[in-house]
Amino acid sequence: MNPKIIVHGGAWDWDDALDPVKKDGVETAVSLGYDVLKAGGSALDAVETAVNSLEDNPVFDAGTGGYLNQAGIVQLDALIVDGATNNFGAVGGVTTVKNPISLARRVMIDSDFCFFVGKGAELQAEQFGFPVIDNQILVTPEMLEFFNAQRTDGPSDTVGAVAIDQDGNVAAATSTSGTPYKPVGRVGDSPLFGSGGYAENGIGAVGATGHGEHIMRLLLSKFTSDQLAKGLSTAEAGQAAMAFADQRFEESMCGVIMVDANGQLGAAHTTPKLAVGWIDADGVARSSMSGQDVS
Ligand code: ASP
Repeated sequence: MNPKIIVHGGAWDWDDALDPVKKDGVETAVSLGYDVLKAGGSALDAVETAVNSLEDNPVFDAGTGGYLNQAGIVQLDALIVDGATNNFGAVGGVTTVKNPISLARRVMIDSDFCFFVGKGAELQAEQFGFPVIDNQILVTPEMLEFFNAQRTDGPSDTVGAVAIDQDGNVAAATSTSGTPYKPVGRVGDSPLFGSGGYAENGIGAVGATGHGEHIMRLLLSKFTSDQLAKGLSTAEAGQAAMAFADQRFEESMCGVIMVDANGQLGAAHTTPKLAVGWIDADGVARSSMSGQDVS
């Protein structure tokens, strides 16, 4: 089958002046992921590659340029899901690893466990041979300004990718520094299986972003996947998931991206904006700040 990939750079509201850099970031990331798929690589390789690019891009709230927590530390969470095995790897509260999505993948593949947090996750990283980084290298001047102002109202720029490869295997990856000026130890939906992401061969892959305390209580990615499993199109599944979110929460402020088992892409959100990048039927990288016109 034709491989497909879609990425996101967060759902929230932000100044339109930021749109061009976000557009550039999601198009670059989705192109890198697609290169992997075109070369016959797996959906897992593609989502990890795309998310690595978004983590390294200071425009987004993941990896370098992430928000600082109340202790002035960039505290990172990530989840990767393999639809072929329905296995996942996750890390939470990591501060010494540059690309937590790659650590999550090693946890999934090379450990007997699924989820490590804090010091334990950092110890795993060292044992896997990841370089131990100084947290300060993740801090950008913009995010330091947010921290110094103790702002909690920043745009939500968590990143994610979902893909289907030529063999029909699906995968999802999500990475974040969470919310601005979060309390130490706060973990949102992003690294939680079924909340921040979900993937199952024969159904599809989903990634979520937005208000974590809502998303985790909705199990939003699994809910969306369940709509695909019922036979809904990606557009219908997105609408159903957002209606579910709005029914439970007055201002649900969330969004999802997805690919179904036929390679149909989709995106939906209850936030004013959702930054998405995808590869269209002609193999061209496209992007949108509304997620409405994904095809
Ligand atoms: N869902 C993330 C969290 O609550 C934030 C985001 O998606 O931007 O940690």
